[in-house]
Amino acid sequence: MANQLKLIFLGGVGEIGKNMTALEYGDTLIVIDGGMSFPDPETMPGIDVIIPDYEYLLKNKHKLKAIFVTHGHEDHIGGLPYLLRDVPTPVYGSNIAMAFLEHKIKKNKFKEAKTNVVKDGEIIEVGPFKVEFVRVTHSIAGAYAISITTPKGVIFFTGDFKIDHTPVDGRKIDLARIAEIGTKGVLLMLQESTNVERRGYSMSESKVGESLDNLFNENRGSRIIVATFASNIHRVQQIINCAIKYGRKVAFSGRSMLNTVEIAQKIKELKIPEDRIVDIEKISQVPYDRLCIIATGTQGEPESALTRMSQDEFKRVAICETDTVILSASPIPGNERPIYQVINNLCKKGAKVVYEALSEVHASGHAYQEELKMMLALVRPRYFIPVHGEYRHLKKHAELAEKMGILRANVLIPELGFCVSVSKAGLKQLPTVKSGSVFLVGDTESEAEDMQIRKHLAEEGIVIALVTVSASGKPQGELDIITKGAVIPDNVIQELKDAIQYKLAGGEYRELNQEARQKLIRKTMSKIFYNKMKRCPIIMPIIIEE
Ligand SMILES: [Zn+2]
Ligand SMILES: [Zn+2]
Repeated sequence: MANQLKLIFLGGVGEIGKNMTALEYGDTLIVIDGGMSFPDPETMPGIDVIIPDYEYLLKNKHKLKAIFVTHGHEDHIGGLPYLLRDVPTPVYGSNIAMAFLEHKIKKNKFKEAKTNVVKDGEIIEVGPFKVEFVRVTHSIAGAYAISITTPKGVIFFTGDFKIDHTPVDGRKIDLARIAEIGTKGVLLMLQESTNVERRGYSMSESKVGESLDNLFNENRGSRIIVATFASNIHRVQQIINCAIKYGRKVAFSGRSMLNTVEIAQKIKELKIPEDRIVDIEKISQVPYDRLCIIATGTQGEPESALTRMSQDEFKRVAICETDTVILSASPIPGNERPIYQVINNLCKKGAKVVYEALSEVHASGHAYQEELKMMLALVRPRYFIPVHGEYRHLKKHAELAEKMGILRANVLIPELGFCVSVSKAGLKQLPTVKSGSVFLVGDTESEAEDMQIRKHLAEEGIVIALVTVSASGKPQGELDIITKGAVIPDNVIQELKDAIQYKLAGGEYRELNQEARQKLIRKTMSKIFYNKMKRCPIIMPIIIEE
């Protein structure tokens, strides 16, 4: 039987984050992106990072030949240090993506990986695949669409992109090449869906520069603090340009900001004259109106520089009336509450706060509807698979593609673990592969059960019953109830004690072994907690035999 071309969805479908797709033909397996996502602290307490379950790649590691990276965002490279630790594989991507990846690997103290920097338009051949990097614009420099020529036809991955005709570094999306690839014939296109719900066109990154320029001009008398995503190097560059233009020195604050600036300067993606930089420790030597602080913390992260400034916990910066604070980012859905808390606190201290709702200080890096349509019109694929989005995004995107003339039967909405055979005859779903999320605490996998317990602990607290008994099982001394994270009224505590004493004195108790005794006490207590308080804390009976 002839070889099949298989597409395997390991992440980024039915969810935002941890993008990972594999492509397999014969004995060659390649991977496009390997991202991570951040946990929701409320439902996943204690978890640091979520990565895709890539058991399929481990099982087929003898076939795994290369990893191709569209760009250096965490949701596209964050999972790779772990995969590369498990299966050393050559990685290809832009200089920024590779520099960020190397930094992550070093930070995790993993063994060095074989990273390869590609240039615009470069083609890498791996087994039966010819992989071409096509320049696109996005909210990070060095972003690529990936066009793969396979024995069955061309597969085009847009990666994350927007169509920005006036990007900050002048490196425009290569629409001419994309149109050329489309004209030659594309079998299947996979397009990102992040902003499929937004009508029209996204704003150009340069427009943000104009707004920032106006704000720097209007607030010449203030100290200016701008918070943004560290990885948005073009944004950081535009802030630096404004600072220089209006005679300010620049200080960087926040670990990820310092790291990113250092990496980006090293590979010359960020340009800033050395004499314009001032160490954050030395900003007191610079007059207020001659200073611009670029900080992390656009999402209200508790440990970030901006959040700490808003709470008076940042040593070097005390926010006051002469401050203008610009949040050059938009809230990631779910983060609104902590962000508005930070904004409220800054306002209370008298600072002037400018954010997206008030001024055009942020532009999305993801294509809006008209840009997605433009890409579809240029690539003109026979088959279409929307990726990188929750189910509603993918569904909406499938409808958009149908409106653009792609046959309904030629559109597939993927789910995690889908394995799809791709050929001119069509997209055929094969048996699914194991997929899902791996939860990490530091570098170590956390069992789902442990997470449940942590969540339970966070919500309900823990109650320990300390019981001392004689060898014959007779209660000795006072019975102790210790609570952590659970508030229990005195009368309930007394009732618990009475009920346990009663059980201890009963004949049933003496017949039981240690484990069954603990069980009995736990059952007795949980009944009371539930009846009296409708609560179920974690109960730990500790029986000490004297
Ligand atoms: Zn992404
Ligand atoms: Zn991205």
